[in-house]
Amino acid sequence: MLRLYNTMTRSVDIFVSKTEGEVGLYTCGPTVYAYAHIGNLRTYIFEDILRRVLVEEGYRVKHVMNVTDVGHLVSDADTGEDKMAVGASREGLTAFELADKYWEAFRHDMARLHILEPDIWCRATEYIQEQIDLGLEMEKRGFTYRIEDGIYFDTKKLGDYGRLARLDIEGLEAGARIEMVAGKRNPTDFAVWKFSPKDEKRQMEWESPWGTGFPGWHLECSAMAMKHLGEQFDIHCGGIDHVAVHHTNEIAQVECITQKNWVRWWMHAEFLVLPKQDDGAGAGTAKAGGKMAKSGDNFLTVQSLVDRKIDPVAYRYFALGAHYRAPLTFTWESVEGAANAMGRLRNRVIALGHPAGGSVSEKHWAPFRQAYQDDLNMPRALAALWGLLRDDGLSPEDQYATLLRMDRILGLGVESMKEEKVDVDQEILDLVDARNAARRNKDFAEADRLRDEITSRGFLLEDTAEGTKVLPAG
Ligand code: AMP
Ligand code: ZN
Repeated sequence: MLRLYNTMTRSVDIFVSKTEGEVGLYTCGPTVYAYAHIGNLRTYIFEDILRRVLVEEGYRVKHVMNVTDVGHLVSDADTGEDKMAVGASREGLTAFELADKYWEAFRHDMARLHILEPDIWCRATEYIQEQIDLGLEMEKRGFTYRIEDGIYFDTKKLGDYGRLARLDIEGLEAGARIEMVAGKRNPTDFAVWKFSPKDEKRQMEWESPWGTGFPGWHLECSAMAMKHLGEQFDIHCGGIDHVAVHHTNEIAQVECITQKNWVRWWMHAEFLVLPKQDDGAGAGTAKAGGKMAKSGDNFLTVQSLVDRKIDPVAYRYFALGAHYRAPLTFTWESVEGAANAMGRLRNRVIALGHPAGGSVSEKHWAPFRQAYQDDLNMPRALAALWGLLRDDGLSPEDQYATLLRMDRILGLGVESMKEEKVDVDQEILDLVDARNAARRNKDFAEADRLRDEITSRGFLLEDTAEGTKVLPAG
């Protein structure tokens, strides 16, 4: 039995899908104005595990992920510039070029972390009409009002507004910030459609019945999730910061129209955080601690790992070492620890030699399955993995078969763990060829010179019966 925590009920409940054997899954995707940081990617790794678990449990999963390429403002209070516009002027690109660049980079990062792609990608700018239509439905039912700045959702009109986050509406009103958009009726009201500034043409703007402008960020997810997954579906995910504002507002926009519960399971990943103080563990640019965020300098990407010669999959392993509902503290030391564990796993797999014909050991599979069925308890699942690897009583065939089965969830790439393939660039290979030619011509002085040249570039040569091998020195 699969049990999953539901942010709506605040409890771990037995998962039952709306339609037997099928799951509709919506995961809030990246805002493509910069590289994703490894905190964002922690959330996507959690969602990837969830999806793999659902598939393993026999569900046909329809996974939809959006790409936010318009409308996500710098501030959650519907003020400030569009993140896309900020990014575009920073890089001298159009907002559309910027979106293409970072969406592609995001997909590359996903691949490097073995995160499966969704069945459907949807870009906000390609669903403008759907968003306008949804806004019109809300308007028809009297949930919106117009102010100078745009069309806003009146959260007071929805009886149970904020129930996902259990918002203290009165408290929020008392503490309402002064810089609230002028004319907004309640602090929790949010933009459905923002007007373009009168004296300025935005790069991203569209005509609408209300006037030229662009959709509010929350509108896209409501519209696209409804379009692809319907008025009621199974699971909607994101990072923990989405509970209070983004998901709360998504719910309001949909349920004010449908008058029924939209999503059965709301699931949220806790943050990747930085150590409280720079404790000398060499946490890169980490200074003050707190959550990893795209703004500020506490920002590490997949490329930052690669630059430190850490296999991105080691970061995936690191992320699986904590439960998704617990904050995870990043230090280079612990990621290097994960890389070492991956090294041990790789050695073990190579020693096993990928033997065929084994069968899955129930003794080890059962605790592994129990762990992931228990609200995706990956630390326990990893413990089961190591229990398997330590079991000398098991044949290599069975051990490998069980390992492969576990890896369908873990996604560590067991099947492709082969003897270390060394990245030798073409120049070195050309030098090796030249040296071989010199040796064939018995020009040993030239052959020795070429060997020295290769060694000085950090490689060693090994002449074997099968030919010359090149290895990195040290
Ligand atoms: P964004 O691209 O900013 O819209 O964020 C993409 C996803 O990353 C969202 O689901 C966020 O909730 C999530 N997120 C943002 N910061 C972190 C963090 N430090 N740790 C984990 N997830 C995060
Ligand atoms: Zn969303």
